[in-house]
Amino acid sequence: MSEAPHLTFDLDTAGVSTGHLIVPKGADCEALSLPVFSCNKGEGQSLLITGGNHGNELEGPIVARRLIEWLPEAQTCGRVIIVPELNPLAVQAWTRNTPVDGKNLNRVFPGRADGSVTERIANAVSRLLLPRVETVFDLHSFSPTWDFPPAVITHPIADADLMAKTLKMAEAFKLPVTLLWEYDDTPGMFDTLAHSQGKVFICAEFGGGTVGAEALAIYEAGVRNALIALGLVGGEAEYPTFQQQKSGQTLETLSSDILRSPARGIFEPRCSMLDEVKQGDLIGVLHSMESLSANSIAICAPATSIVCAVRSGLHVEADEEIVYLARPLNL
Ligand SMILES: [Zn+2]
Repeated sequence: MSEAPHLTFDLDTAGVSTGHLIVPKGADCEALSLPVFSCNKGEGQSLLITGGNHGNELEGPIVARRLIEWLPEAQTCGRVIIVPELNPLAVQAWTRNTPVDGKNLNRVFPGRADGSVTERIANAVSRLLLPRVETVFDLHSFSPTWDFPPAVITHPIADADLMAKTLKMAEAFKLPVTLLWEYDDTPGMFDTLAHSQGKVFICAEFGGGTVGAEALAIYEAGVRNALIALGLVGGEAEYPTFQQQKSGQTLETLSSDILRSPARGIFEPRCSMLDEVKQGDLIGVLHSMESLSANSIAICAPATSIVCAVRSGLHVEADEEIVYLARPLNL
């Protein structure tokens, strides 16, 4: 029997402390040692911030490190625990899934003590960190092959009270978009586990494309705004400037708002994120690579919508997702 997952330090220590979360070794790899930061300032909200759940989304680990520098001075009460990289193996490989076992960490929660390495990470986090907090911010990015605004995403939650609390928390980030996303692929998500325990779980989706200084500043401001809303730090929240605007909008994407490629070929976007489109507007073109005489296929908006996410110009297979449309959320 291998050792149990454990922390190398006591999370209840007053003030700032750092150490590691030890994920035991298994048949597939050696033990992992995930750096953990804790700032414990007594009574107040308790929050877990995680990055690097997916290894090719590095805005989260970077913003998490900025918070670790800033929080010891700024935090006035409560408890904040930060794990910048939940899946160090995937981060090192810059892959969404863990290279050792091919698993997506965000689909194996609550994990298994005797499972493969990805399941052992989920098990350690579920047992040792999640029970210590009321709220979780999991810092993701949409994907390097998408154009996507800085956003906070939540999926529909059956518990109406938790849904309302989660949306309120999501809007407190004051990011350009708060998105309620109807999403079917939810078993094993960190969100789903936290929701089942009545916790507020926020999934920040820090844009797509490359990691740039301007976007990182927006993300950092968003997390700071949320910390102010939780009462963990002082100060006034502000909308970060994005596309020359200081405002945010709350949108909804249904499963039917996700447009898929009608065939394989090179996708050419003809719209930009946050464009407003009317029914019939051209939003992209698909170019067949089989023949230059083959007609390109126009992809048009099926209804008046806001463009939430656009696939970068690249080769796509038939039925791959290419555009996410959205509409203002009316609850
Ligand atoms: Zn992700």
